[in-house]
Amino acid sequence: MTVRRLPLLVAGAVLLAGCSSTADGTDDELTTPTASPSQAATSATDEDAVVPTSAPAITPAVEQDLGTALSTPVEDSVYPAVGDPRIDALLYDLDLDWDPEARRLEASATVTFRAARTAPRFQLDLGRGLTVGRLALDGEAVGFARRGKDLVVKAPIEADQRYELTLDYVGTPKPAPAPTTRSDFSTTGFTITDTGEVWTMQEPFGAYTWYPVNDQPSDKALYDVTVHAPMPWTGISNGHLTELTNDGETTTSSWQLTEPASSYLVTLAIGDYTHSANTSASGLRVDYWTPRGMVMGLEGLQTAADSVDWIEGKLGPYPFDSLGLVVTDSMSAMETQTMVTLGNSDYVLSPQVVAHELVHQWYGDQVSPADWSDVWLNEGMTMLMQWLYEDEHDIRPLKGTIRDARAGDQGLRDDYGPPGAYDPQQFGSSNIYYTPALMWNELRIALGDDEFFRIARSWLEDNDNTSVTRDDIFEHWETETGRELSGFFDAWITGDRTPAPGVPKA
Ligand SMILES: [Zn+2]
Repeated sequence: MTVRRLPLLVAGAVLLAGCSSTADGTDDELTTPTASPSQAATSATDEDAVVPTSAPAITPAVEQDLGTALSTPVEDSVYPAVGDPRIDALLYDLDLDWDPEARRLEASATVTFRAARTAPRFQLDLGRGLTVGRLALDGEAVGFARRGKDLVVKAPIEADQRYELTLDYVGTPKPAPAPTTRSDFSTTGFTITDTGEVWTMQEPFGAYTWYPVNDQPSDKALYDVTVHAPMPWTGISNGHLTELTNDGETTTSSWQLTEPASSYLVTLAIGDYTHSANTSASGLRVDYWTPRGMVMGLEGLQTAADSVDWIEGKLGPYPFDSLGLVVTDSMSAMETQTMVTLGNSDYVLSPQVVAHELVHQWYGDQVSPADWSDVWLNEGMTMLMQWLYEDEHDIRPLKGTIRDARAGDQGLRDDYGPPGAYDPQQFGSSNIYYTPALMWNELRIALGDDEFFRIARSWLEDNDNTSVTRDDIFEHWETETGRELSGFFDAWITGDRTPAPGVPKA
């Protein structure tokens, strides 16, 4: 996710002055994405800069390799009410029929899962606004109960056996309250616009508002998603587009995600979309799904292809085999895997925010936190990369960014807690962004860019498509640097005070 519009380094200073209500930013000099001369030269009227609308590529569906989705599910330490560690979901096969006039979702789901342990029953998360009809386990009808957002399936499961849970459900999905005080989102999950269009952002949870899911990040799974929507609307989800047809009334689009994703990285958007594309120098096609007629913001959005090249130069090859971006009616931005979800605003569609969400494809998506106490693993490295991007693209010099972030760090710890032990009702506050970014920058300075990014890359290679913990990454950096870093990491991630600059020597 992107940080709120105003870098908190500035808001921290504002807060000290007792003007918290201006946390959305009045200091134009520091916060407005300043266009560099080259950016200013290309405006929306520059025809070369606008990629023509094009037909999207259709990729034939493949048989999913369920073995790639094996996980070690855990109970979340921050949000234990969501998810069930008895379940290791492997594949979600969803068929979604959206009626925008009735605001009605009619759906069927097949969840293929491994039992992570033997148990007399198990549960998935599924929004209370959805009514479950037929439900079967391996083809046999079984009993179930709804308890709030829990769908409890009353059937025994045996450790390491695989099962197929099938169900039909119907209703008007309702977004879930978000455990945050951020100004740019207050709910998560399935969101319906005034015109009946749909978008979803679901960090740290909220996937359950529209499908039955083990909604905790340690359980990565594959996805096959088919969406039916009235023409000319299109449903967008993660991965490859494998079908795009219509029968004169209804558009059917099918999507296949062939590398496993945590549920908070899944996206669904339904609306009146047009498609365009460009390609990175490294040869990755980037698909853009934008509201029909959208002009403002296209230019920033389509910097994504160049940003892929920039990120690859530091973090190594793009980790997946497709990439798209979809623009929705939200206010924030989310790194949904292989299909980034962006709100339709100048700030969210700025090159540095687009780059931020793309960096997450490496830090956050390819390698994800197993527990929400480690969301700083995503945002720290990504924020540092955003700062470097801003510096190298003449948006904001790194030196001033670091100076301000350092000045604001103690205030963030005081207000929200240290990044690795934050207040559960303050999810996504700036402490999980700036504080770990400062920490990584200390290591970058101590090691030099070449060594720092070598280690940052090897971490990704060693942990491809997994969910990890802070102990895993601490050990990686200690091994690779040959330095004793436990005190350094602890001070930055769980300490109450901003650490002094510097990194212990080897
Ligand atoms: Zn982020």
